[in-house]
Amino acid sequence: MIDAYYTDEFVLPLPQGHRFPMQKYRILRDKVLASDCSVSLSVPTVATAGQLALAHCPNYVARIERGDVSTDEQREIGFPWSTQMVERSLRSVGATVSAVRSALQHGASVNLAGGTHHARRAKGGGFCVFNDLAVAARVYQTDYIARAVNHSKRQIPNVLVIDLDVHQGDGTAEILAGDSSVFTFSMHGATNYPFTKAVSDLDIALPDGTGDELYMTQLQDALNQIETCFTADLVLYVAGLDVHQADRLGKLALTDAGIQLRDQVVLDWAGKHRLPVAAVMAGGYFPDLERLTDLQLGVVKRLAEYGEHYAKRVYSRNSSN
Ligand SMILES: [Zn+2]
Repeated sequence: MIDAYYTDEFVLPLPQGHRFPMQKYRILRDKVLASDCSVSLSVPTVATAGQLALAHCPNYVARIERGDVSTDEQREIGFPWSTQMVERSLRSVGATVSAVRSALQHGASVNLAGGTHHARRAKGGGFCVFNDLAVAARVYQTDYIARAVNHSKRQIPNVLVIDLDVHQGDGTAEILAGDSSVFTFSMHGATNYPFTKAVSDLDIALPDGTGDELYMTQLQDALNQIETCFTADLVLYVAGLDVHQADRLGKLALTDAGIQLRDQVVLDWAGKHRLPVAAVMAGGYFPDLERLTDLQLGVVKRLAEYGEHYAKRVYSRNSSN
């Protein structure tokens, strides 16, 4: 049984005709609930100011919380400021923090929203207010240090961010630049938002129209490369579905089978290294939300299966010691 965290009860008041498909989150939760997959649904707590300060400028966090946000900043974020926007953003980060803590127990976990990878240290953008990935990575490391009686062997555990949303994880790259304990890998559309890319530890920019075959070759090559230079203790998987051919923003051309294979490549690799995986749903902008959420449910099922296999492996390893 893995945990899935949802925040769809915290809805933003958006102007009529706003292009963000807020209702997709509720549809996905209903599908998870109605499915036979081994998932327990929970509402996360809010991220605290102390947790946010691990990745963000405290002054930026305070300004967002009290609504001291200029029109330009709101335009860049893509949402008008409201108390609900603050609540939802804090819960969404809280969901990824909770997903990480749960993945360490059960091998896998998922935030049914999250993946707000465009939020930078002191500014939001592209529907992202706070960066759940950077905050969750740092909270995990801080938790570990707080618990460790003797951490002389290695100071802090390492986190690998595998960001396969079609948009580059520019905020994550910016916040975590120069931090050798977190490896940021982003594979994204070359011509897509953000038009000025940041520098991740590994970036792969794909041409428009990239299909399953090229995508899978590039992904496998990247994972092979990462394992030669970085030893991860946890994977943060940004499982955006905006790489699919049905997405209206993505410009890539993965099929349903390609999405399944992509997750499998990531999970097989993580399994080979016995790594817990905390996933976030991130982008997905299909005109047909039923189709989008069916595919997202597939991601959740694969994570639940991974959690089961992981638990078996860890159990057999412990009992053989
Ligand atoms: Zn995206």
